Amino acid sequence: MTESTQKPKKIIPAPELPPERCQHVKIVDVDKPVQRVFYECYHCFQGLLSECIGKPVIEEIKGRPSLRELKVKCPNCGETAIKLTTEKVLSTTAIPSPWGTSDQESSKPT
Ligand SMILES: [Zn+2]
Repeated sequence: MTESTQKPKKIIPAPELPPERCQHVKIVDVDKPVQRVFYECYHCFQGLLSECIGKPVIEEIKGRPSLRELKVKCPNCGETAIKLTTEKVLSTTAIPSPWGTSDQESSKPT
């Protein structure tokens, strides 16, 4: 037996939020100065609406251009709800999830 052709393990840098997980995101008014981003919190699936302004900022990290990601804090659970590649996040508002995946039926009219 000779040595088997073992491939070296891929070293994947672990980001704080792995991109594999599916997250609902919908961006509207992309052609306007203020964009609105509808999404669900990564952690608690709270429906959220963020108003963003500006264009994605590319900055050099270790000599390589990278999109700057802004962490948006979830007003519901306090965790990072999403990372947005935008210049500035003006506001973040909790909304009923447009996708209806939230289990919370807090303000349901009778
Ligand atoms: Zn949350």
